[in-house]
Amino acid sequence: MPLVSDSFHEKKLKDFKINIKTKYAVGNKIYERNTDGSINDDITSGVRCEKEYYIGPNLVHKETDFDSRIEYTFISKEMENREYKCPNCGMQSQLKNFKNGCPYCRTNYNIEYTDKDLGSKYHYDRVLRNTTYRVVTAIVDVIISVIICFFFIQATSRTFNSIDIAKVFIYGAILSLVLYYLFYIVDAYIILGPIKIYKDRQNQKQIDFWNRTKLDKKSFFNNVNYEVRKYYYSKNNVIDFDVLDYIAFKEFNRSGTQHVSVTAEVRIVYYENGRIKAKFTKEEYVFRKNPTDKLEIHEGVNMIKCHNCGHSIDATKGICEYCRTEIKYLQEWIIVNK
Ligand SMILES: [Zn+2]
Ligand SMILES: [Zn+2]
Repeated sequence: MPLVSDSFHEKKLKDFKINIKTKYAVGNKIYERNTDGSINDDITSGVRCEKEYYIGPNLVHKETDFDSRIEYTFISKEMENREYKCPNCGMQSQLKNFKNGCPYCRTNYNIEYTDKDLGSKYHYDRVLRNTTYRVVTAIVDVIISVIICFFFIQATSRTFNSIDIAKVFIYGAILSLVLYYLFYIVDAYIILGPIKIYKDRQNQKQIDFWNRTKLDKKSFFNNVNYEVRKYYYSKNNVIDFDVLDYIAFKEFNRSGTQHVSVTAEVRIVYYENGRIKAKFTKEEYVFRKNPTDKLEIHEGVNMIKCHNCGHSIDATKGICEYCRTEIKYLQEWIIVNK
């Protein structure tokens, strides 16, 4: 079912004949959704834990790094199976059969569910997403272990030749394995303290942002995700992306209009020369407040008519496909490229 918020992605994947199988953890069960519609378990909300990318029948790429704090919701099976009657021609069927509008009279529909999360994050914590801590610990551990062995061997051997130097490194390596856990604990006090303080300060900044701007978190996150999806899927070689964490939010004024910048850690998945590859990056997206009121889309099926020619429109296209009249924008915040 191409929802307003999924339409760009679906079109893109269909063009490339790519299926993305996403696994979701719901309680202690794993469910899956496929972009080609092959198996779509009835999930109403869940966290992502794995994505598999298929070209035709072949699994070509896999991603397992996801943020368990970011929430996604789905249109329920109950809603998909609900009986629906086309207001234009009277054809009656289940909602899922009206995939791309009415199959009989070609009336455009805009299907939406209002209680959605396209990738919202409501929690604050102290998790640092990189592996710096473990790498630093390992380096400190190995250096200190080698130094200890050096002094030990120098003090106990009568000679200090190349064999002894080799011994220093071999014993050092063994000792570092033994001591790694100890260093892991010791470093927790030395390294984690500053990380906690840093994360607390970042979290406080985000809390201040929400308090100051009085933005509704859920609708703002949905707005951001809708716009970011549209932005990436309009690029030729991007087939998928995941926000791994939201890092910063800032509001500012530019030429009299309110703007908000959102910095996020993202993974962008590219399809180039028949290959799928991912890039991890930190991105800043800038949003400008929509100068007019936005197009209101309600729960379920929306049939929106062009105010100029009266034809039913696809709200994701921005213009009426028949008379090319511009229609109101769907979002309150519009992404502006940097
Ligand atoms: Zn119809
Ligand atoms: Zn029109």
